Amino acid sequence: MTRITVAKGDGIGPEIMDATLDIILAAGAQLELDEIQVGEQVYLAGNSAGIAKESWEVIRRNKVFLKAPITTPQGGGYKSLNVTTRKFLGLYANVRPCLSLHPYVKTKHPHMDLVIVRENEEDLYAGIEHQQTDEVVQCLKLISRPGCEKIIRYAFEYARQYERKKVTCFTKDNIMKQTDGLFHQVFDEIAAEYPDIENEHWIIDIGAAKMADTPELFDVIVMPNLYGDVLSDVAAQIAGSVGLAGSANLGEECAMFEAIHGSAPRRAGQNLANPSGLLQGAVMMLIHIGQTDVAEKVQNAWLKTIEDGIHTYDLYKEGISTQKVGTKEFAQAVIANLGQKPSTLKAVNLANGTPLNLPKYQRKPPARKELVGVDVFVHWNGTNPDELARLLKPLESEKTTLSMITNRGIKVWPDGFSETFCTDHWRCRFKPAKGNTLGKLDLIFLLVKAVENNIDTIKTENLYDFNGKPAFSLGQGQ
Ligand code: NAD
Repeated sequence: MTRITVAKGDGIGPEIMDATLDIILAAGAQLELDEIQVGEQVYLAGNSAGIAKESWEVIRRNKVFLKAPITTPQGGGYKSLNVTTRKFLGLYANVRPCLSLHPYVKTKHPHMDLVIVRENEEDLYAGIEHQQTDEVVQCLKLISRPGCEKIIRYAFEYARQYERKKVTCFTKDNIMKQTDGLFHQVFDEIAAEYPDIENEHWIIDIGAAKMADTPELFDVIVMPNLYGDVLSDVAAQIAGSVGLAGSANLGEECAMFEAIHGSAPRRAGQNLANPSGLLQGAVMMLIHIGQTDVAEKVQNAWLKTIEDGIHTYDLYKEGISTQKVGTKEFAQAVIANLGQKPSTLKAVNLANGTPLNLPKYQRKPPARKELVGVDVFVHWNGTNPDELARLLKPLESEKTTLSMITNRGIKVWPDGFSETFCTDHWRCRFKPAKGNTLGKLDLIFLLVKAVENNIDTIKTENLYDFNGKPAFSLGQGQ
């Protein structure tokens, strides 16, 4: 018996949750349910997070959370419950299988069967943003080694558990050599530990184009947060319908399972909604808690029901469907099919599933880290970089010299192009003067001189070599 937390959510949420629970309990799921309230009512009662403190305690105690979609009220100030839950509970992996159900669900990709494994906690979604000058705002893209190792190992372990053949990595490391470069490097390191699973890396742009064109070439795809956010919706859509996909959000301690669609308020309370997305989430939950025999039984009965042409309004098509049913009747049809397998669609076999083997992250010994310069970011309204270089001259010392100025990453001094468009945000790189090394105090002296000379510094970034290798980007054109 596993005790789980359940939230019925808003809009169509309660109907699809009831249908889902009816099906999995009829299939023999051994569950005790603790129901909590989340969503619209909680938001409107003045809780800007959409969830009460006591509910967090239930979620943390049970560790497994099955959640129906919620409605985020219009207007500012309401925090996304999904984002908050992922971050608070450390749900680092978002897993979304996208399977074509051709010919029962219309799709241009009849043989598509892929799984997107999306990093869920970091990247640009750390939400660290600042306005720095009149014209420039920034968002920090943070990629960590533990973040990469955890998600990439998860992807390979998932592939092994589900007998998938290949793991593909998408990044843009030709441009983002440090951040996406780390993700790619860790992918190569971990792939080497799984010689039984094929691996490949694609630059995200051409990889995404290929996935949209010939998704059947892919199996498991792992990627950083932002790319995964976009491409998991593309993949679900081209598989046939976002209404059919479920997703799992997994952490070291806790896990949350849901449908990928929203609360469809216009369809609420009419016994119309398709419960398949949430049911797919629930099947992943059953696998997660080790009830793989029940998961297999539910999945095969669901595939058989789709194949029988018993469809809710969103899937119903003359000539393909045999019966248009409501939410409840669909659930009853799946229950009636428990124990049966589809004949055209591929039946699933989960009984031999091995549990995921996810070792805890082991921190590596620290690298040799050497300060080799500093980028001082300056707010300056001028347009001629030579003039800025002159203004910065008094900041130089016997220890530091100005080596480069860039504007939005493009080198504009020395030897810039007059055609380069410049904003009011300048990166001024100082390096040690010949024969010198730098200490932290030298950076502080540099900033003191900047203040004395009315230079508006907005931030600094230290430049480091790690184990003797430069670990910062050059200026474009440098
Ligand atoms: P939506 O996914 O609710 O609906 C999009 C379209 O798909 C609508 O036409 C809807 O009728 C249809 N649809 C969705 N699920 C269906 C189902 N199970 N069966 C049949 N038809 C279905 O997206 P939306 O309209 O943009 O958002 C509605 C609300 O849901 C918003 O408040 C949004 O913030 C919220 N939302 C919540 C989640 C979540 O809780 N995970 C995710 C996305 C959106």
